[in-house]
Amino acid sequence: MDKPLVAITGASSGIGEATARAFSSAGHPVLMMARRLEKMKAMNLPDTVCRKVDVRHRDEIRVAVEDAERIYGPVDMMFANAGVARLADIGRQSPEEWDEMIDINTKGVMNTVHAVMRSMMERQSGTLVMMSSIAGRKVYPDHTVYCGTKYFVHGVSEALREFLSDHMVRVLVVSPGVIETEILSGVLDEGTLEAYRRNKVRIGGGIGADIVGELILNAYQLPQNALVQEICLTPTRQRY
Ligand code: NDP
Repeated sequence: MDKPLVAITGASSGIGEATARAFSSAGHPVLMMARRLEKMKAMNLPDTVCRKVDVRHRDEIRVAVEDAERIYGPVDMMFANAGVARLADIGRQSPEEWDEMIDINTKGVMNTVHAVMRSMMERQSGTLVMMSSIAGRKVYPDHTVYCGTKYFVHGVSEALREFLSDHMVRVLVVSPGVIETEILSGVLDEGTLEAYRRNKVRIGGGIGADIVGELILNAYQLPQNALVQEICLTPTRQRY
């Protein structure tokens, strides 16, 4: 295996799945992590390690990385992608939904970074891909806490990029607009869901997740001394 190992959280569907397929097609071994193990196994990609991981549990990521690295060598690209979007009317939303988004989208991202960052620094090589959102660049009132988690990812990523630059570790932020995935299945607030769907129809639908996966692969394939700092991709008709 001449291509290095890459690792992806939230690899069981949507953008994570598409990115796993893109890197696998390019010849990389892939560590796929998510809670739905069977979905990842059913993709039947070659040279993969599929692990049931909840990103809220730091040790589960660490063990999965250690196991995959024993077979394929060090993780050269970690995609901290796993996330949930409990979009809702903030005035009525239960704080338990806030907790879930904060735990998965912020602490989960840090747990994921933690599993590989020190090794990348020691090797003076590696790429961290951080999943934010267009909602990490501008606010939407019915995304309030979700926006907060994605602004967190933007802030941490910029600080990490500066910190890791002397170590030759790249930090790339991904900030998509509307992408066709399972993400809306997590929106439990009917009014918010309806408004989101109406806007989606108005803009002619979301972009395919495969396009995001290919963009990440293209950015990764640049030489290590060339960094795409951010991929901000929206449907052309998405105004906000
Ligand atoms: P999906 O719902 O299709 O994918 C979400 C992925 O995250 C799934 O693989 C899910 O796996 C995983 N996941 C969720 N919670 C956990 C957890 N606790 N531990 C491990 N894995 C978890 O949606 P997307 O592909 O759209 O979402 C991926 C990322 O993209 C998210 O961070 C989202 O915020 C971001 N994003 C999406 C946009 C869109 O329009 N679709 C726009 C901007 C950003 P499982 O349930 O098996 O654990």
